[in-house]
Amino acid sequence: MIASDYDSPIERFESLGEELGVDLFVKRDDLLPFPLAGNKVRKIHAELESLESLPDVIITNGSVDSNHCRTLALFAARLGFRSHLVLHGASKASERALSILASLGATFDLVEPSGIRDEIEAAAKAFENMDQTTFVLAGGCHTPAGAIAYRDAALGAIAAVSPDVILLASGTGATHGGIAAGAATDSTRVIGISVARDSERGASAVREAAVWAGMPEEHPVEFIDAYREGGYAKWGASTKAAVDLGWRFGLPLDLTYTGKAFAGLAGLTRSGGISTGSRVLFWHTGGLWNALNSPLPKEDAHGA
Ligand SMILES: *Cc1c(COP(=O)(O)O)cnc(C)c1O
Repeated sequence: MIASDYDSPIERFESLGEELGVDLFVKRDDLLPFPLAGNKVRKIHAELESLESLPDVIITNGSVDSNHCRTLALFAARLGFRSHLVLHGASKASERALSILASLGATFDLVEPSGIRDEIEAAAKAFENMDQTTFVLAGGCHTPAGAIAYRDAALGAIAAVSPDVILLASGTGATHGGIAAGAATDSTRVIGISVARDSERGASAVREAAVWAGMPEEHPVEFIDAYREGGYAKWGASTKAAVDLGWRFGLPLDLTYTGKAFAGLAGLTRSGGISTGSRVLFWHTGGLWNALNSPLPKEDAHGA
């Protein structure tokens, strides 16, 4: 149905690795062949492939600036279905994000987080009343197909570079869970750095996704919530320093996702949580739009 060979390069970042005291490889899902690429391309592509046929409308939810919603809108425009997005977190700063969605032909409702579920149901009913077939896609594409796509990508990456550690930004969980399932048959350690959730809520969503992708229930999940710096789309000095370091070595990072993961990598190499000289695969999950669309924060600034 759609190009089924989406994959991304792995690059070695020698000087940046030296800075951190590790042998650093980067899985460039920010360079998947797709506009403003990131992990949502892999997950949504796999989800669409798993459907018997495309519906008239796919409904999903996320924040106004969500990469999940934007990526779905891009696929929808390209493949000829309609994306209807139930969005929360609208602010003055969201105009550019909304105008991109509108340009792609997406339609959307702006709601408070507490109203998401009802709005999705109402929208599905309204489309069905107009004889449109609908499919409701889980927020963040937290789905078995998404997790399995990441398991398969992890198997390829592990075969290619045999890392000691894979580290990535962890949010709704299918990316981290899928990679953990791929690494479970091996001795590869997988560390997810939370971009929002506390470890209790975050780790259980990761575990759920990992089990979808075949990880044994009892296998440990490493989900670290110490680098959240205030929560989703908020940041402080340590995230900012990590983002600056990445850009200085030609690795674009953002303050919402990959910067937090990279701050986690820097913190763990400093504390000995990752030993010096380890082969580390940093799984770059995208987020260039977030980087370009953020105000430049001051060292101590918090908030988006
Ligand atoms: C969504 C997203 C994540 C988190 O992925 P999950 O599968 O939700 O855990 C990480 N990085 C970027 C850039 C994202 O857009």
